[in-house]
Amino acid sequence: MARRRQIYEGKAKILYEGPEPGTLIQYFKDDATAFNAQKKGTINGKGVLNNRISEHVFTLLGNIGVPTHFIRRLNMREQLIRQVEIVPIEVVVRNVAAGSISKRLGIEEGQQLPRTIIEYYYKDDALGDPMVSDEHILCFGWAAQDELHEMADMAIRVNDFLSGLFAGVGIRLVDFKLEFGRIWDNDFSRIILADEISPDGCRLWDMTTNEKLDKDRFRRDMGGEVEAYQEVARRLGLMPEGADSSVLDLEVHRKLRDGK
Ligand code: UDP
Repeated sequence: MARRRQIYEGKAKILYEGPEPGTLIQYFKDDATAFNAQKKGTINGKGVLNNRISEHVFTLLGNIGVPTHFIRRLNMREQLIRQVEIVPIEVVVRNVAAGSISKRLGIEEGQQLPRTIIEYYYKDDALGDPMVSDEHILCFGWAAQDELHEMADMAIRVNDFLSGLFAGVGIRLVDFKLEFGRIWDNDFSRIILADEISPDGCRLWDMTTNEKLDKDRFRRDMGGEVEAYQEVARRLGLMPEGADSSVLDLEVHRKLRDGK
């Protein structure tokens, strides 16, 4: 059998050609990077957890009518997705001050923001993903005005839904990053949610202890990354009963259950 074609390799995922035109396979790696890839590492089992968490979140978002690229999960590390033309903008939504906004503006981490903030970053590794305004996005044609509106509206919908979902399991959704893509239908395009939603791109804090259950554990050398990601999966009801010791248990358990 011919080896399938790799379309793209990013920091945490690989995209392969899909089984049908217009589809891709998204493979979740264990690689982790931070600070514009200056810090690199591996978190054993992260890819499996992110694949499962992202499947769950995208499925729920699809159920409330948010259009996404997700089609279905294929196995432990892969999902089938719709091929999109990625909009080169990272959309960050913030409910609580943390990370770069705290650093840049001197706002204490953990401070609830008086209103939700949306920020845009231009996806360019060489430039270190600089923050840009809607003026820049329109001026340089990275997205059109109606697309920008659509992305902001969807980001707010996703925020409202996810804030409630996580609050229901005792987790505060501090901030998160979204990516969007265009799908073409003859001469017309529309915007759908792409990429992934997982503890790699969200800040998730335990509501009572403020314990970090996200990639900040890696960024800040705190350790316990896999345990934190597992805890998120567990609270979302995604871990098999009794399998909380190691993600390898999860892998073995599922392989046995699924017969693969
Ligand atoms: N984020 C991301 N990818 C990036 C930059 C940020 O997923 O390239 C996420 C990050 O995990 C956090 C939110 O976006 O949940 C806001 O990140 P921030 O601007 O505070 O940057 P950081 O402190 O991560 O450098």
